[in-house]
Amino acid sequence: MTEASGNPRASLRDLPSVDRVLAEPALAATLERFRRDLVVDAVRAELARARTAAAGGAAVPSAAAVAEAVAAAGVEEWASAWPTPVINATGVILHTNLGRAPLSEASVRAAAAGAEGYADLEMDLESGRRGSRHAAVAGLLRQLTGAEAAIAVNNNAGAILLGLAAVAAGREVVVSRGEASEIGGGFRIPDVLAQSGARLVEVGTVNRTYAHDYERAITPETGALLVVHRSNFAVVGFVHEAGLGEVAAVGRAHGVPLLHDLGSGALLDTAAYGLTHETTPQESLAAGASLVFFSGDKLLGGPQAGIVVGEAALVERLATHPLARALRADKLTLAALHATLLHYVRGEAAEALPVWRMIGVSVEELAARAGALASLIGERASVQPGTSALGGGSLPGDELETRLVVLDAPAGADELTRRLRTGDPPIVARIEDGRVLLDPRTVPSSRDAELAVAVSRALEA
Ligand SMILES: *Cc1c(COP(=O)(O)O)cnc(C)c1O
Repeated sequence: MTEASGNPRASLRDLPSVDRVLAEPALAATLERFRRDLVVDAVRAELARARTAAAGGAAVPSAAAVAEAVAAAGVEEWASAWPTPVINATGVILHTNLGRAPLSEASVRAAAAGAEGYADLEMDLESGRRGSRHAAVAGLLRQLTGAEAAIAVNNNAGAILLGLAAVAAGREVVVSRGEASEIGGGFRIPDVLAQSGARLVEVGTVNRTYAHDYERAITPETGALLVVHRSNFAVVGFVHEAGLGEVAAVGRAHGVPLLHDLGSGALLDTAAYGLTHETTPQESLAAGASLVFFSGDKLLGGPQAGIVVGEAALVERLATHPLARALRADKLTLAALHATLLHYVRGEAAEALPVWRMIGVSVEELAARAGALASLIGERASVQPGTSALGGGSLPGDELETRLVVLDAPAGADELTRRLRTGDPPIVARIEDGRVLLDPRTVPSSRDAELAVAVSRALEA
């Protein structure tokens, strides 16, 4: 509300009525597009704001000014389409706040096809009998990992909760003290264990845990051994971690299953991309894990999902547990996950999946794109070497070499990044040491020109 639109000498009693605001031409289009009661609520809220402001000495706005404010933001603010697509220029590939893995074109098409009409989600078309929604995805997962059986649920946190509840409720679960950690956003291994009905038995120390630590903790009460991949932190220095094979051997000797929370679940070898080798689900199974848990939307490059692969008898216990129904994945997820897994089956994952394309893009290509972006943006932009991150709790500490566009921000880095976020299209940039950086790695190259235009506009604003 500007001074010009109000009357500084008017008193609170001159605040326009709701009806007068609603009659303003500025609200005609809004009233056509949204339910009247919602627009009335928005007008009331705007009038309440104006009243508070006026009590603090601000000018009392005219009916037209209130109507304009409501038309500009009131209802649109919460009643417009969501989520808003953004350009991720942070260089963080699995950015949890931006939705983690972008899907492949085939995965998007599969989800849309599953959503649009009816589908054979739980029907065998040959016999007309009821089928399982898990069968198709499980079949591909078995092929890809060599597991006896597989199941996909809502997300990995849910998969672990289900696994612990189905395998070890009412019994003890042995975990290394160094792994009883917080995975992120309120997901703590000790809390999930408690929720599952299992009891946590911590062994070893935060930095050193040996196979014999697990062995000594096993009692007739032990329901499972749990190994949690350190996906969002590293312990360095005087450190010992028992090998997965050693822990599996301890479990086998005592008839106790080993549950392995792998976190990311890379089906491709990260070492081929100059990264630390990430244990694959197939390697975890080969080392003796009874059940392996991983996410669908981290290095797998698919939709949010929690995948469990392993021994058939245990997977069956998960599938028939009441929590499986509560945590089940919907048809959109299963369709997109199936299409994602098909890329691996066809040997085209590195090219077809955006996550792996972004990991694999060469520094030469990034340098060329950063240079072209900088020259399009103009004198306020320059290029410098830097690093991109995998993010999403995958390979912490691992970095990928990149070339960054550095923006000169006379109004300050916070103001420039705010303008970029609120522009069209919205751009999420990175701030480092007070400077605004754009990493072309996470930007689809087809959008470079659009990015340059939007950045130029934000710099001029
Ligand atoms: C990310 C992660 C989880 C949680 O997976 P979501 O799919 O986000 O629920 C669990 N454990 C580890 C080790 C992880 O890295």
